[in-house]
Amino acid sequence: MISVEEALEKILSYVEVLEPEDKPILDCLGQVLAEDVYSTIDIPPLDNSSMDGYAVRAEDSYGASQSSPKNLTVVGEVAAGSMPAAEIEPGTAIRIMTGAPLPEGADAIVQFEDTDEASRRLSHSDLSQIGILRQVEKGLNVRYRGEDIARDGLVLKQGKVLRPSELGVLASLGYSIARVIRRPVVAVLATGNELIDIDQPLAAGKIHNSNTYTISAQVLRYGGIPNILGIGRDSLESLSGKIEEGLSSDMLITSGGVSLGDYDIVKDVLAKRGEIALRTVCMKPGKPSAFGVIKKVEGGKEKMVPHLGLPGNPVSSMVTFEQFARPAILKMMGREDFAKPTIQAVIEEDVINDDGRRMYARVIVTRREGKYYARATGPQGSGILSSMVKANGLAIVPENTEGVKAGDIVQVQMLDWSGDLM
Ligand code: AMP
Ligand code: MG
Repeated sequence: MISVEEALEKILSYVEVLEPEDKPILDCLGQVLAEDVYSTIDIPPLDNSSMDGYAVRAEDSYGASQSSPKNLTVVGEVAAGSMPAAEIEPGTAIRIMTGAPLPEGADAIVQFEDTDEASRRLSHSDLSQIGILRQVEKGLNVRYRGEDIARDGLVLKQGKVLRPSELGVLASLGYSIARVIRRPVVAVLATGNELIDIDQPLAAGKIHNSNTYTISAQVLRYGGIPNILGIGRDSLESLSGKIEEGLSSDMLITSGGVSLGDYDIVKDVLAKRGEIALRTVCMKPGKPSAFGVIKKVEGGKEKMVPHLGLPGNPVSSMVTFEQFARPAILKMMGREDFAKPTIQAVIEEDVINDDGRRMYARVIVTRREGKYYARATGPQGSGILSSMVKANGLAIVPENTEGVKAGDIVQVQMLDWSGDLM
């Protein structure tokens, strides 16, 4: 039985980064840039104001104070999106709005609060003059051309994951299309004679197929595109046919049929069609897992489709997905950060783990006085999917120990970060 790390290394060694594609930027959220992005413009394009106020020559404000204002002649007004109609000469000012270009001759902005504009308005006095109430330095409240992004500069490097901020930068550069590594299409196949489609009534001895939905949702969550193949029955013909359908995808994930039961034939199909790279992993839940590649011929060439065989038990399927399918999807998408976000937490109860395997215990993580605490969600059976509903983390109880004692520090892989953990 190999360790989780060895299994992951093996799986990733069979998984390739996919090709680039060109797409509208909003469709690229979470994808990885496939080329460097340079700027063809300065941002901002012109020196402009960061405040509503008056554009002045700083020199003209020298010596100004509340008790002895410096009066300047107002020679115009400029709003964002317009160009100033006048220049600043000594002794003059232009009323200016945030984002409006700095008038020629001006070198500072005095914000409204530092002028007597409000009191002039109240007293209906002359608005062709403005009193400056404080001395300002050159450059105050001025945003300079190119201070955010300079023309011809490297703005976003190949390999960058596109988040809302990167999409915003692309938009401000005027790029409507980005070149990114494409999303993997992941075929999802549930196996088992006991399974019924979720829109069908249950019959004796049958259960609804839930794994297709948890797995497909996990694929979506990490950026892949699920290709739902439905349910394969526990026969060589049914499974072979379904697996054939899945070979147009970039990866195939099956659930069930990988343990040692009589009807567990996914491995038999794999042994015939491809190559099995690993059969069991030293973890729980999830010991019966399989990974291999299936051969297909495309355009006269032999290709290999990675196949991840997850256990059928709903919790095992989800937990093994997090450990193996998530990194595989991220790698195909060109990501390099495969590790699940992990924190250190104080475990609040004893967790026995004496069968030599690494245990992923479903826990509820809370934060109190700056420290994280983890407590188990209750019964940890690998069929108890509601334990995943309650959990926001997976506490790692190391292999080859007796388990952990209340008060010990454990590593917890976070499944979610809710507001009260921030
Ligand atoms: P298996 O790995 O095929 O032996 O399946 C183990 C157990 O997981 C089965 O007895 C089922 O109760 C459950 N199971 C398998 N596949 C699914 C599925 N697609 N949806 C829900 N439960 C499943
Ligand atoms: Mg089965």
